[in-house]
Amino acid sequence: MTDATLSNLLREERRFPPPADLAEQANVTAAAYDEAAADSEAFWAAQAARLDWAEPWTQVLDWSRPPFARWFVGGRLNVADNCVDRHVRAGRGDRVAFHWEGEPGDTRTLTYTELKDEVSRAANALLALGVQAGDRVAIYLPMIPETVVAMLACARIGAPHTVVFGGFSAEALRGRILDCDARVVITADGGYRKGAASALKPAVDEALEQCPDVRSVLVVRRTGQDVGWTEGRDAWWHDLVAAQSAEHTPEAFDSEHPLYIMYTSGTTARPKGILHTTGGYLTQVAWSHYAVFDVKPETDVYWTAADIGWVTGHSYIVYGPLANGVTSVLYEGTPDTPHQGRWWEIVRKYGVTILYCAPTAIRTFMKWGDAVPGRYDLTSLRLLGSVGEPINPEAWMWYRRVIGGDRTPIVDTWWQTETGAQMISPLPGVSTCKPGSALRPLPGIQAEVVDDAGEPVPNGSGGYLVLTRPWPAMLRTIWGDEQRYLDTYWSRFPGRYFAGDGAKKDDDGDIWLLGRVDDVMNVSGHRISTTEVESALVSHPLVAEAAVVGAADATTGQGIVAFVILRGDAAGKGADEDPAQELRAHVAKEIGPIARPRQILVVAELPKTRSGKIMRRLLRDIAENRELGDVTTLTDSTVMDAIRERLPEGS
Ligand code: ATP
Ligand code: MG
Repeated sequence: MTDATLSNLLREERRFPPPADLAEQANVTAAAYDEAAADSEAFWAAQAARLDWAEPWTQVLDWSRPPFARWFVGGRLNVADNCVDRHVRAGRGDRVAFHWEGEPGDTRTLTYTELKDEVSRAANALLALGVQAGDRVAIYLPMIPETVVAMLACARIGAPHTVVFGGFSAEALRGRILDCDARVVITADGGYRKGAASALKPAVDEALEQCPDVRSVLVVRRTGQDVGWTEGRDAWWHDLVAAQSAEHTPEAFDSEHPLYIMYTSGTTARPKGILHTTGGYLTQVAWSHYAVFDVKPETDVYWTAADIGWVTGHSYIVYGPLANGVTSVLYEGTPDTPHQGRWWEIVRKYGVTILYCAPTAIRTFMKWGDAVPGRYDLTSLRLLGSVGEPINPEAWMWYRRVIGGDRTPIVDTWWQTETGAQMISPLPGVSTCKPGSALRPLPGIQAEVVDDAGEPVPNGSGGYLVLTRPWPAMLRTIWGDEQRYLDTYWSRFPGRYFAGDGAKKDDDGDIWLLGRVDDVMNVSGHRISTTEVESALVSHPLVAEAAVVGAADATTGQGIVAFVILRGDAAGKGADEDPAQELRAHVAKEIGPIARPRQILVVAELPKTRSGKIMRRLLRDIAENRELGDVTTLTDSTVMDAIRERLPEGS
């Protein structure tokens, strides 16, 4: 699909074998690949057995009606019991589940025992509100412990939750509430972001004007700001939940009982309500968290620095770490409040050993410069992870050198809301890492890179990423829209799951993700990936971050337009000189003259989703002078105005 001859990524030759001490004590060794290859159902059954089941399954996988999978058929379990109660039963109740850090600096520590009591009270409160198994509950909260408690309380009583980013508008919230027909909303007065209290309750009140079926709103007091109140509908968490008993006996649910609906980021299209179920999902998130992060529950302090309102937060802040009984950090705010060293202060304060975040954050830290993290002792870190977008090799190198002290492995984990759990990633005790490559499918997962006709491409070539076998945490459908489920994922290559991402296989057969197939550019008949041009730009010392789009071009079909953010230490220097000429030449040298951008615009910010992904479709709208498409998942809409102002007249 993409031109293999035009590849800077496949010329990346730096290699990082696993540190010897980590490899020696790794949770998972190379044998896992062989075991899974010999019998993947037996492999997944062994991983499912790491959980507590109230009733065993009778069949590992039912794939008799593809693409509708059923995993661990007939098995029954309770997710909250697995994430909380069983650790208390096993005598680990005093272990810290979360070190929570509020943005203003207030803190809270929750042990597994305390979490169990809170979740039980919240479950009793939901029951008191009339919530029954199967009813949907919308959660619209900041990053506070109650968010985790609310999710687990829903899981405990079998009520699927849908968590909506606290930063989303009333309109986005309303759309999701209506789409899944939620009857109860859990929210807060507000939360802290960027040094100030920002309100949440008004957006709920506004959204609910058009959601007549929502009968109850449970409100956490976080900021103490004034809130509007609807008598009979609204209740304070500290009244209703605190008054409940801390005793609640969890009921076991069918392995295929719905656990949650998560709307995709909306990077490329209108968000889809992705349905995840119980047994297979918990099995794969727990196993992948254990394997990919090599977690040692007794000693590690684990931190996914992402929002719970994103699937990464669901799988790797809540369900995976708790299923494994790990101690985690939970942070409410933004990385630069009150100063640009906040994350590193948190790492030092709690002795974080494993950090998982998105390339967008890493590139932001690069932009701020090495000196900021340089002020903190980060030697507790032993493993770093990346998720959400392809990580440019230079960002990878920076992450390893400046944050990881040149010692830590980096696991670049490819997965999606739809996959539920990590799918393609190094194993830190096994894999020799390559900056910018997610390497190969995890044990038990089968992926392939195929051409237009669906044939696997040879090593050294690019194509479409597909998953060739069902996996336990896979989505079961798009909520309320089976046809969209079939059309979006299963019609392009019948029998295989089409991920929507482009990828290349290198000479070793390792996989390099190239971004969305929708974003691939066609310049004079050459198919060029946005990721490769962006990585070439980021490899220039002036550039911290880049977003590239193909804009209609009368002569070449598409012309490459690049939006770049300069590095902090570079931005001041030579401010009068336009770096565009130099950067265009740099890309031509790194990839080839055909990839030379037609236009380079220096900007201060890029349009991103709340999960930090660059929304190239909006940049394409700008580059082609169109009305902007759906912006409901954009973090900050003023960014688009600022970029428009930078555009030369007539472009
Ligand atoms: P929508 O489907 O609504 O456009 P989205 O795809 O951005 O939204 P997510 O499910 O949050 O929503 O993102 C999954 C996508 O993120 C993947 O398809 C891939 O493009 C990208 N991605 C995630 N992790 C990686 C990674 N490690 N390397 C490369 N790309 C990644
Ligand atoms: Mg997607």
